[in-house]
Amino acid sequence: MGDRAMSGLLDDKVAVVTGGTSGIGLAIARRFIAEGALVYITGRRQAQIDAAAAELGPRAVAVRCDVGNLAELDALYEVVMQRSGRIDVLVANAGGAVPAVLGDITEEQFDSMFATNVKGAVFGVQKAMPLLSRGASVILIGSSTSTRPDRGMEVYGATKAALRNFARSWTLNARENGFRVNVLSPGPIRTPGLLGVVSEDQRDDFVAMFEDVLPAGRLGDPDEVASAALLLASDTATYVNGAEWFIDGGYTSV
Ligand code: NDP
Repeated sequence: MGDRAMSGLLDDKVAVVTGGTSGIGLAIARRFIAEGALVYITGRRQAQIDAAAAELGPRAVAVRCDVGNLAELDALYEVVMQRSGRIDVLVANAGGAVPAVLGDITEEQFDSMFATNVKGAVFGVQKAMPLLSRGASVILIGSSTSTRPDRGMEVYGATKAALRNFARSWTLNARENGFRVNVLSPGPIRTPGLLGVVSEDQRDDFVAMFEDVLPAGRLGDPDEVASAALLLASDTATYVNGAEWFIDGGYTSV
């Protein structure tokens, strides 16, 4: 990324990237900062927050926040309000999968995925609304599993399919709300979140399984998701609303 030409596409923009301390969210935060934005990042683990803040430098503001906890979302937006007074780009990225097949899934696994992936995204947007500037871009990070079922990812896929429906529903009020909502749905991307699904000794087989199936022949890079996020966030995509873009190396086609 260091040698990529920057265009200042997000000069003076204020962005919030939930789950900006790792993987895809961190790559998006890095890219937004390089393009001129001030970026608020969130996560739950303090050590990850400190490491990401140190890496991203002074144009990142790190706030500890569990997006499934409404009081913590309120506290996050209070910080943004006091410091910046507005949000131009909101990326609801915090999320993750707890692999479990439909026949075995526990209530706890079910609730934890819905709390972060769905509740966190819905209230993350709802509570940001007073701060969203006219023309703001809201990006929900979905998943190829919203469309292409993967064994053990059935409930996770359902949480991500819900985001597509919410995004399209928000477009109905685009005139009053004045912001766009789109979904970016990655396929398998090389992140701590994906690789952490299996133990270290199973990792090579796990990656090889994807490489066999993926038309791209490889896992995606978080930066490839960040490129699409930048396009959606910028004023070059002002007529894109209610869309779901797959950043998946062709995964949803096979
Ligand atoms: P990582 O685990 O690498 O990063 C997830 C980030 O979200 C971390 O910053 C994590 O911090 C944060 N997070 C998780 N839960 C919460 C929560 N309840 N409240 C606040 N922050 C939270 O995952 P990825 O980068 O792989 O995933 C990012 C997004 O992309 C997720 O929504 C995921 O579902 C989606 N995705 C990923 C794919 C992949 O192959 N990697 C494929 C398709 C979709 P902390 O744990 O400290 O809270």
